[in-house]
Formats: sequence, C-alpha cells, structure tokens
Amino acid sequence: MNGQMMQLPLLISSLLVHAERHHGEREIVSRRVEGDIHRTTYKELATRARRMAKALARLGVQPADRVATLAWNGYRHMELYYAVSGSGAVLHTLNPRLHPDQVVYIADHAEDSVLFFDLTFLPLVAAVAGRTKSVRHWVVMTDRAHLSKNAPADVVAKIPNLLAYEDLVAAEDDHYAWPSFDENTASSLCYTSGTTGNPKGVLYSHRSTVLHAYAAALPDALNCGSADAILPVVPMFHVNAWSLPYVGCMVGAKLVFPGAGLDGKSLYELFESEGVTLSAGVPTVWQGLLAHVEANNLRFSTMKRTIIGGSACPPAMIRAFGEKYGVHVLHAWGMTEMSPLGTVCAFKGKHAGQSQQERYAVMAKQGRAVYGVDMKVVDENGAELPFGSETSGDLLVRGPWILEKYFKGEGGDPLRYSDGDGWFPTGDVAKIDADGYMQITDRSKDVIKSGGEWIGSIDLENIAMAHPAVAMAACIAAPHPKWDERPLLVVVKKPGTDLTREQLLAFYEGKIAKWWTPDDVVFVDAIPLGATGKMQKNKLREQFRDYRLPTA
Ligand code: AMP
Repeated sequence: MNGQMMQLPLLISSLLVHAERHHGEREIVSRRVEGDIHRTTYKELATRARRMAKALARLGVQPADRVATLAWNGYRHMELYYAVSGSGAVLHTLNPRLHPDQVVYIADHAEDSVLFFDLTFLPLVAAVAGRTKSVRHWVVMTDRAHLSKNAPADVVAKIPNLLAYEDLVAAEDDHYAWPSFDENTASSLCYTSGTTGNPKGVLYSHRSTVLHAYAAALPDALNCGSADAILPVVPMFHVNAWSLPYVGCMVGAKLVFPGAGLDGKSLYELFESEGVTLSAGVPTVWQGLLAHVEANNLRFSTMKRTIIGGSACPPAMIRAFGEKYGVHVLHAWGMTEMSPLGTVCAFKGKHAGQSQQERYAVMAKQGRAVYGVDMKVVDENGAELPFGSETSGDLLVRGPWILEKYFKGEGGDPLRYSDGDGWFPTGDVAKIDADGYMQITDRSKDVIKSGGEWIGSIDLENIAMAHPAVAMAACIAAPHPKWDERPLLVVVKKPGTDLTREQLLAFYEGKIAKWWTPDDVVFVDAIPLGATGKMQKNKLREQFRDYRLPTA
C-alpha cells in the first residue's frame, strides 16, 4: 500500500520559488568585479533567474545541455545556479584556477555548450576559446559598457560570439514557469581536482542537491536560519560552495558574496559592514584573515561561527578563533563526490559539562556523520573496525548524495567495496571514536609508512602549526634506508620569525610517540597550493624525492 501524499519532485527551482515568496525582501550582497558593492533581494534574484532561463532557451540550450561558469561568488553566478538547473540544463562550475589545458580538457569532456565568465577571467577565456570543441556562446558576466571600458579589444577579438550577461537579461521578460521533471534529473556537474590522472566529473541530481541542502541546514550540521547572514568564502566553483547557495534560499538567510576579494582585509570589511554571522572556507583562507585581524588588533562584532573544511583545520586555528575572537569553529569534512557534506563536528549533549580543553580536543576531529551519510572504517581485509577502535583504516561512505559513478563512466566502478551494499571508498584514512566522531589521519596516498607502521601526517602538521613561528607546514614521506619511509616536515615560517630545525623538533617532545617525530625539517618560502587551496603534497613529494634524511 502506498502512502497518499503529494508526489512533488524535489527540484532546485522550488528553493527559489520558496525564497521569493517567503523571503522576497531578504538581501543578497555582492562585491562585484565592477569594483562596487551590489545589493539585491531574493525577489529580484528570482525575477532575473527567470529572465536568464528564457535567455538560455533563446541561445538554444536544451534540457541536459551543459552550461559552464568560470566565476567568483556573486549574485549573477547565483542567478545561473537557478536559471540553468531550474530550466533542466546542467550547471557546470569550472575552476578558474586550473591551467588553461585542464580547462579545455574539462570543457570538452563535459561538452559545455555555453560558457559564462567573470571579466577577471577574460585572459583565461581568450586562451581557451579557440581550442574548445563544443562551446557555442561565450557570455561575459557584466554589462556591455563595463566590458568596452575594461577589456582590451585585441583580447576580446579572440573570443567568438561574445555576449554580455546584462544584454541577455534585458532582452527577456520574466514570464516563465519553471518546468517540472523527474527529481533524479541531472542538475549540476563538478570535476574532482584530479591529483591522480585526469579530473573526473561528479554529476549531481535535483534530488541529491535538495536532500543535501536540507541536511546541511540542520542545527548539528551548518546550523543555518533566516536570521543568519552567511558569507561563503568557499567558491561556488568548488562543490557548489558547500551548498550554501541552496541553503540560503531554503532558509531565507542573507547572503554576502565576496567576489574576488578573498584577502583578509576585504573579507574582514564585508564581515563587519554586512553583519555576517556565519562563514565557510578552507583553512588557508582563514590564515590570511586571522593574520590581518591579528596585525590590526581587530575584533569580529557579529561573526559567531565559521565552518572550516576541505583540509584538516589545525587545532591552533580552532583555538585562535575561539579564545581570541569568540568565533566557534565547526570543523567539517566532505568531498566533491559527496556533494560535499559528510561530517560536521557539532557537540553532543554530553560535552556541555566538559572543560574547554576537552571540548577543543573534540573540535579537532572532523565530526559526526550528518543524517543521510552512513560511514564506516574497514581494515585492509575489508572488515569493519568498531567505533572506539584506536586503529585507523579506510573510510567508506554511502548515502543519497554520494556518487555512484563518475560522469561518462570514467574510473570504472568506484564502489569497488560493493559486496552488494555499495560503499564508496573515500581514499581517506580515519578512525571513529566511541561517540561517533570521525578523525581523518591521512589521505591514503599521503600516509607515511615507517617500518610497516603508519604515521599520520595530519597530526604532525597540526603540532607544527601550533608553534607560534610556523605559518604553514606539510609533512611528507621521505625515503629512508632502514624504515622505508620517515616523516619530513616542510615548513614556511611566519615573516620576521626565527626558528631552527632543532627548536621545532624539540617542540614535538611529549606531544606524540617519540618514533613519530619527524626526522628532519626543511624551511621553504612557499608550499604549493592546488586550485582549491589545498597543499599539493604530491608536488612536494616529487620535489623531495631524492632528499637524504639524516640517518644517525
Ligand atoms: P575535494 O573533493 O577537493 O573537496 O577533496 C576531498 C578531500 O579533502 C577529502 O577526501 C579529504 O582528503 C580532504 N578533506 C576535506 N575536508 C577535510 C577535513 N576537514 N580534514 C581533513 N581532510 C579533509
């Protein structure tokens, strides 16, 4: 016997319809490439998204066609989130920090038909425009006057069929009804960073996106409500800005988009001028912000929480936010293949009475699974390790917003653990404590194998990051004649500080098992960062491939 409830599909357009009707006056503020601060509302956003949906149809975009963006976080990008997916096409958010060859590879692989881009990326677009196979229209996300004033004619000439976003919007009226279709229809496409092999596409559906947004908004997840002013620092080209553009509509929160201004000063200005209560981003961004706030002796007057994920958040950063600035850090973990949310480190009731010290120890973990994500840790034979086990193993996940297969079948069957259950292997090495808090010890390819035992590089990096003279630290495996591999610490010092190898190694004493202590430290000017702000340890390993550790 079936239930007798309405069969309305979970569609992304329904989020916008809700926001327009119930939160129409709520503001969306953007720092624009034009240089100013732009203000709009959900009502206006909905109107312009409908116009853009009509413009897409006029450009010949059909359901399931891929429409790409190369854009910062801003209201026009948000309009495209809804216009493209809402009309039944697939929004493909390209990462503008990639090399032009990779952009060409990904755009061809996705078979993008139209590509929208911010004026900032004009040189990149000029470099790829003659090389992509399927893009029929290039649309610069500004008005024609700004384009003429700011774009060199010889660069513009390299881009065929260049259109201006505001011309497209102005040419349409907003009489448009969002179509209804199966909720399993593809809605957006995002490529993994591809540190091994070519990037692979992850194709989200309307259903997975809406369910994920519900879960993300929950109190023990990102805890978002209509009273919040949310500033997503995490780019809209990186796993849909962790779903905040969808959550914003779902709860009617004010949204504040930073555009290209991702430096500490620009971010801080927006936090304060727009009364931001919640933000989200990778640790490297927060480093810049904290450095600015510290150097200028500033305080946050409205910001209460910030979500940090994408790579391990050093406990020293969690403490700095909490103790000096009263900002609660929510450590979160996920991946492109998981839409991205997997775990968030929200306290259970039992932690209320604990000391601050104990609470910080919990906050350093990546957190508990949000409902919708099931996870387990298995040993090398695939046997499940119980919660509370001190042994780390491979972390497997499953759920309705977790990838089943990559776009066009790349990479074969990722559910290689599928013993009928279909678990996705995350490639992370982790353990889960008795309370269900998961802690990542490493990416499986970053793990250091010393004499057959594993050393977790994240723990070693976290300790180094707690040293006041360390700006950034990466721990990698270096070849060792006796132990196969031993940890080598690569460190960027904070400007104006003086730190020696011996002082830093002494800093490890008493903090970890002695045999985990790195064998050596090298000081460098910079650690290579990937397109999503993560340390590229594969590049460091390559750089230090022949490094000779002291063997005494
Ligand atoms: P991406 O698909 O680019 O978002 O990368 C996903 C990977 O980033 C995960 O599989 C983890 O290795 C890493 N990651 C994400 N969040 C965290 C976190 N909070 N702590 C440690 N690693 C993380």
